[in-house]
Amino acid sequence: MKAVTWYGKHDVRVEEVPEPEVTEPTDAIVRVTLAAICGSDLHLYHDEIPGMLPGTVLGHEFVGVVESVGPAVRAFKKGDRVVGTFHIACGHCRACRRGDYHQCERGGVLGYGLAFGNLPGAQAELVRIPYADVNLRPIPAGLSDEQAIFAGDILTTAFGAVKNAGLRPGERCAVIGCGPVGIFAIQSAQVFGAAKTLAIDLIEKRLALAERLGAIPIDAGKSNPVSRVMAETGGEGADVVIEAVGGSQTLELAFDLVRGGGRISAVGVSAEETFAFPLMSSFTKAIHFHLGVANIHRDIDATLALVAAGRIDPTVIISHRLPLEEAPKGYRLFAERKATKVVLIAG
Ligand code: NAD
Ligand code: ZN
Ligand code: ZN
Repeated sequence: MKAVTWYGKHDVRVEEVPEPEVTEPTDAIVRVTLAAICGSDLHLYHDEIPGMLPGTVLGHEFVGVVESVGPAVRAFKKGDRVVGTFHIACGHCRACRRGDYHQCERGGVLGYGLAFGNLPGAQAELVRIPYADVNLRPIPAGLSDEQAIFAGDILTTAFGAVKNAGLRPGERCAVIGCGPVGIFAIQSAQVFGAAKTLAIDLIEKRLALAERLGAIPIDAGKSNPVSRVMAETGGEGADVVIEAVGGSQTLELAFDLVRGGGRISAVGVSAEETFAFPLMSSFTKAIHFHLGVANIHRDIDATLALVAAGRIDPTVIISHRLPLEEAPKGYRLFAERKATKVVLIAG
């Protein structure tokens, strides 16, 4: 079968690889119809994540049709249309029983290398999904592949970030980064009832999309985002700040933007090991700070329901639709910020 494979910095290829097979009774094989390139794949593309082996099949955002299932799979059968969660959970370990699916003791991330379970990814014609009953969801009737795909990762990541921040109706939410995750954070903040969403980025096109969705755009390259957010919040700062870039620079900015008693929720992936935490000011301002990998299983049913109800249109971010064979071009366009979101048509 054809699959997108990783060979090092800025080197992804489309190759013939062996087809996956059911190896555990709880596995399903999914025939991928649509896969996306995630901002997290860019960290691999820039060779920032340790533990990648040359030839690793990439990709963790996908929808498809169930091709075959192991004998222990109860919820799915051949022919079912499904969306998959980007991280795999077993459903039975101590963490999963607690609802911390992102901390599963047997878990991993599809297509993210040795440090994340060494699971082949979904930018391929077929993908093996372990614990299929736990990690797949049926696509609600009437939803297209493009409407469903992001529930398995970035839409639910952004929604969960806003939920983790405890955003209440009438609050003001600043979103740092208007990539696909930031755009979905804006849409999620509006669903949670934000009175004002402030969108910070450096790219005009992405800010324009944020503005079309009802946010106030702030170009951090042209104006000081701290003074702009202060001006928009009566000098207080944002009630909630969502960090959707990754790295210490934008984390520092989040602490500057948040009001006293406010909440920061950061979902950007950081390759840096440490970060100089603003200890004294966070103490005196009594800041809540939440950081981490998303818990997709906790929130995916909610995001699918919101999309099905027409409350969130996730297709607004798609700028490029390419055949799987053109994945290297898709990675290049996304890395060069010439594409907002690339989806790969696999079948
Ligand atoms: P992206 O790279 O397309 O978006 C990042 C955006 O940040 C870009 O629009 C860029 O212009 C903007 N940006 C960069 N520097 C900035 C600065 N100094 N100030 C303001 N804006 C700046 O990626 P994405 O798909 O939107 O993903 C965003 C982040 O979320 C990535 O780090 C990704 O790995 C991460 N992510 C995390 C999870 C999770 O589980 N926590 C899940 C999915 C994605
Ligand atoms: Zn992702
Ligand atoms: Zn588990």
